[in-house]
Amino acid sequence: MPDNTIVETIRMLPFGMLNAFLLIRGSNAILVDTGLPNSASMVKKALQKNGLDWSNIRMIVLTHGHIDHAGSAVQLGELTAAPLVGHAGDLSYFQGARPVLRPTGPFGWLFHKTGAIQSPFAYFSPDIVLSTDLPDLTEMGIPARILHTPGHTPGSISVLIEDGRVIAGDLAASGILLGGIWLKDKPKQPPFEESASLAADSLRMLLAQGCTHFYLGHGGPLEADAIRKHIVRLETLGA
Ligand SMILES: [Zn+2]
Ligand SMILES: [Zn+2]
Repeated sequence: MPDNTIVETIRMLPFGMLNAFLLIRGSNAILVDTGLPNSASMVKKALQKNGLDWSNIRMIVLTHGHIDHAGSAVQLGELTAAPLVGHAGDLSYFQGARPVLRPTGPFGWLFHKTGAIQSPFAYFSPDIVLSTDLPDLTEMGIPARILHTPGHTPGSISVLIEDGRVIAGDLAASGILLGGIWLKDKPKQPPFEESASLAADSLRMLLAQGCTHFYLGHGGPLEADAIRKHIVRLETLGA
């Protein structure tokens, strides 16, 4: 087995505005998030770039139930035959409930008004619904584990690789325009966050687990120092 786990960032939108990730080690791959609906071709390209195809994906992990992360889950589940994995806390979102949206700033409000984040997509029940028992992915060939990191949504999860890199979904974001072009190293809240205080707790827990590099759905990656500063800011916001 090669020593290093590759984290392949799949840019679902330009400028890091929306990312999904492939974790690759040898012939084993785990897909973390699936982008908006009809994103399969971008995942396929990322696989091909690494000499892999659909059959190498062993599991599809959904960090949470929003359309920009779970929008192609059904399509990719069919293409790969890999199990869809999500947390019980977001089960109603995966199944079609409209997400609770607490905008964190003007961009969130604008986004809310367009209704884009609440558009319908192909809903599903995950093949594996996580609650207290969280899997170690080592048996899938990737030395990583899934942790429950609520805040952005109740059922948000993160995938922590043993070397300290973590795929944290929308637990934090960076840059302007959903993570894009400018101020990419500056942490910020995602456009929506159900609980800032839970997000701070989850980020603190990830730091305590030794996380050093945070790969994010919008913007990123951020280093631990930037996350520490972000936690201080979240604490001033309260609940
Ligand atoms: Zn989200
Ligand atoms: Zn998102």
